[in-house]
Amino acid sequence: MTRRKYVVGNWKMNGLSAAIGEAQAIFAAADDHAVVDVAICPPFTLIGAMVAAAPGKAVGGQDCHSATSGAFTGSVAAAMLADSGASVVIVGHSERREGFAESDADVRAKAEAGLAAGLSVILCVGEPREVRESGGAIDYVLAQIAGSVPEGFDPHRLAIAYEPIWAIGTGLVPTVADVAAMHGAIRGALTARFGGAAEDMRILYGGSVNGENAVELLGAGDVDGALVGGASLTAAKFVPIVEAAATL
Ligand code: PEP
Repeated sequence: MTRRKYVVGNWKMNGLSAAIGEAQAIFAAADDHAVVDVAICPPFTLIGAMVAAAPGKAVGGQDCHSATSGAFTGSVAAAMLADSGASVVIVGHSERREGFAESDADVRAKAEAGLAAGLSVILCVGEPREVRESGGAIDYVLAQIAGSVPEGFDPHRLAIAYEPIWAIGTGLVPTVADVAAMHGAIRGALTARFGGAAEDMRILYGGSVNGENAVELLGAGDVDGALVGGASLTAAKFVPIVEAAATL
């Protein structure tokens, strides 16, 4: 089957109400490129307003708790995201794995919670710089896949985002050959575990994607789209990435 390209914006902890207009501009421009699926994951505080301002568009959370409710001050359950109109959730971003000490088991539990709440899940993996330099990147990422990808899900509802930590927000990117090798290895591991269903799972690249490098990076083997941080905050920077994906 042909996997549709998927371009997702991760706004991280950026954006006040005034930024909703950017999201509307992004979604409006994306309508001209219907071959690409586009989602924006703003801070929790903007999800409801963004859904209201862009009905029918894919809006997501950047994290969720694995529990359905309870005494977890400051956390948000997957069902709460769905209740606010979100249809997507990112889990296992390296800024969560590193900054909040989330283990593979934690990430898996969050992915399971997102799927159980009816959300699509984008599950992030990626190696630190020293692992890349020591030649162990593929083994490292495949161990994350083994530990954090759940069982028994609709393959259309779970995407993997390969995000080398050293490429996030740095302007550094891996070579196209390294991206293709990693994505091929991830596809192989998913196929070994899930058989033909792995063909339906999208594998995104993330890390300093911009309008200039998007065609090259998204054109690499087994790359089905991008998870974009800094360049997703404005239509001027994000739309060219969507346009690039539409050409592939
Ligand atoms: C990210 O945070 O997921 C990311 C890829 O960030 P950036 O595009 O800014 O490197």
